[in-house]
Amino acid sequence: MVTGCYAQMDPETVLGLAEQPVTIIGNGNKHLLVQAALAEGPPDLVMLMGQIRRKKEICDLPVTRFRGRTRAYLRIQDGCDNFCSYCIVPYTRGRSRSLPLASVHRQVATFADQGYRELVVTGINVGKYGLDLAEQQTIYTLLDRICGDFPELRLRLSSIEPTEVNELLLELMLRRPNFMPHLHIPLQSGDDEILARMNRRYTRDEFAAVIHRVHRTLPSASLGCDVLGGFPGESEQAAENTYRLLAELPVSYLHVFPYSRRPGTLAATFGQQLPGPVKDARVLRLRTLDGEKRAQFYRDQIGQVQRVLVERRQAQSGLLQGFSENYIPVLFPGTTALVRRVVTVRLTAVDQGQAFGTLVDELLEEKPRNEYVAVSNGKGKGG
Ligand code: SF4
Repeated sequence: MVTGCYAQMDPETVLGLAEQPVTIIGNGNKHLLVQAALAEGPPDLVMLMGQIRRKKEICDLPVTRFRGRTRAYLRIQDGCDNFCSYCIVPYTRGRSRSLPLASVHRQVATFADQGYRELVVTGINVGKYGLDLAEQQTIYTLLDRICGDFPELRLRLSSIEPTEVNELLLELMLRRPNFMPHLHIPLQSGDDEILARMNRRYTRDEFAAVIHRVHRTLPSASLGCDVLGGFPGESEQAAENTYRLLAELPVSYLHVFPYSRRPGTLAATFGQQLPGPVKDARVLRLRTLDGEKRAQFYRDQIGQVQRVLVERRQAQSGLLQGFSENYIPVLFPGTTALVRRVVTVRLTAVDQGQAFGTLVDELLEEKPRNEYVAVSNGKGKGG
């Protein structure tokens, strides 16, 4: 059984590649996965592929369990209307569609009941949440509602466009102690000409202003960026503009991808496609910067006490592993009974890009949060 963007775009090629009979499920019909898997006769390919571009509702595929995880993921939105010139998503996943509030609430309640401690709210373009529904909800009202109704869950956003990071979001992050101080904001390029050719809707200065504003509001927040290396026509100067912007901005980590030519997109028709080795060199340079950014961000927090959700015992080191509120993966000694609990950990060292700490208090959840304001040095809001 095959599903996903490639299968949606080119099912005939997928069928041709397969040595055994396969069933292809379109992105808009994933709710039919189980039914198709159990079906005895040959599946109806047309029915399963559907017309993704005409889909007006999100495919509701409730997930109730992420095996062995402390963190659950909830997709509240699918599809995208932005048509960035390099991206196949608007063609393969259709227009922006949102999960109704009642479904979101039901799913979050299921995760909370099962003991998940952290929820990552995901989507293709979560900032457009609610615009297709008659419920008068936006991403900001939805997040406020989840944070308020499920105070025991730590909440993160998987990613949000720079144009959608605004006063409402920052106010919410300050006000809600369970909204983690962590944002992932795609940049893609730090060069205005390339940004325009990508059909991104901001300039490098506007992006920089967003990052500085978040950093001023939430100084210890983790700020991640996506960046593409080697877009068609990216000159040495344009690549340098991207590198310099990211080097200078207070971002904590980068997700770097080489530009990949996707048939069916506008950018695939552009001239000046760059050779592989040029793309590789630019990606490598940006990934090196990513390592430096992470290490610096971790080093800046040495001596501070962080609330850490313990996820597992790392086999290699035998140490407990968890994430701080501001998304620092930290290793520290402790008993296995602490897994799935929130504890306080003092960051003590960074070695080869890995943060280490010592346990301060393992009984955090049995004490009022306010006791930790003085030592947390987080957002100054008791969270
Ligand atoms: S890159 Fe993101 S915002 Fe742009 S079209 Fe693709 S999914 Fe939409």
